[in-house]
Amino acid sequence: MANTSNTKGTLTDNLEDLWQHAKSAGISRRNFLGLMAAGGTTAVIATCGDGKSSDTAGDGSNVPVAQIAIPPTDATILPTACDYCSVGCGYMIYKWPVGHDGGMKAAENALGVDFPVSTLSSKWISPNMQNVVEIDGVPTNVMVIPDGDTKVVNKGGDHSVRGGTLSQKLYRKDNATKDRLQHPQIHVGDEFIDIWWDDAVEIVADISTYVLDKYSEMAWGMKQYSYQYYENTYALTKLSRKSIATPVWAPHDKPGEGSDTPGLSDSGIDAFSAAYQDWFDADVIMVSGVSLYESKTILFNE
Ligand code: SF4
Repeated sequence: MANTSNTKGTLTDNLEDLWQHAKSAGISRRNFLGLMAAGGTTAVIATCGDGKSSDTAGDGSNVPVAQIAIPPTDATILPTACDYCSVGCGYMIYKWPVGHDGGMKAAENALGVDFPVSTLSSKWISPNMQNVVEIDGVPTNVMVIPDGDTKVVNKGGDHSVRGGTLSQKLYRKDNATKDRLQHPQIHVGDEFIDIWWDDAVEIVADISTYVLDKYSEMAWGMKQYSYQYYENTYALTKLSRKSIATPVWAPHDKPGEGSDTPGLSDSGIDAFSAAYQDWFDADVIMVSGVSLYESKTILFNE
């Protein structure tokens, strides 16, 4: 792994060195100033990388590295959507083995662009958009970048900080992502104890039977996540609605079943499902008690 902290430290210490570095990478003074305004030293260094292979720091520090690896023309490319909020911005995943990087020229990389590119070009790659993980035991670069070619939702590759760091949450044994729940747990005293899945299912079934027999289905409740698709929510919904037949059910973000804006659905307004076109076409939008910019950034920005 290429740790470029020394280079970064030198450049950070001296603005003139940073400008010379940018100039030697073909950056105009105007673009240099734009990069400084947009992301400071990190943006300049990331844009003006010298083409050496690199990846994340790998020391668990999450310190951005100074250079990124460029996907080769034969990288695996997959479309995806950001899973941090319901806006559903479009992203592209690039995967390729470590050590098999593409080049700076358009014909040498999977993005088909000549690097360096400007930060607002929709092809600019932040160090935080890239990670190195093991796939089938092979160290693999995984880059998750906003889809700069999308014509809907996050047009032209617009994205929030959350979406721009999607690759950082990929599982690695050597950083904070290793702290993942891998087994069901039971709360005993002050501790959570790992148990086997068979035991977890049996315990839930026995307690459920006891509660249903003694207090009825009104005392048995289900709180579950509700995003994504029927394939992911069907089993839990069927258990609570059909098998148990309880009205005590709520999705992840509300105390009970109802619209996102309590009261509006009761008055006949469907608050959740405004089309993006409706948002774009609206002359006035009044929001109250919500964090649209922070939690649905691209819907707000666009
Ligand atoms: S607004 Fe941000 S968090 Fe929501 S889907 Fe788009 S990039 Fe992801």
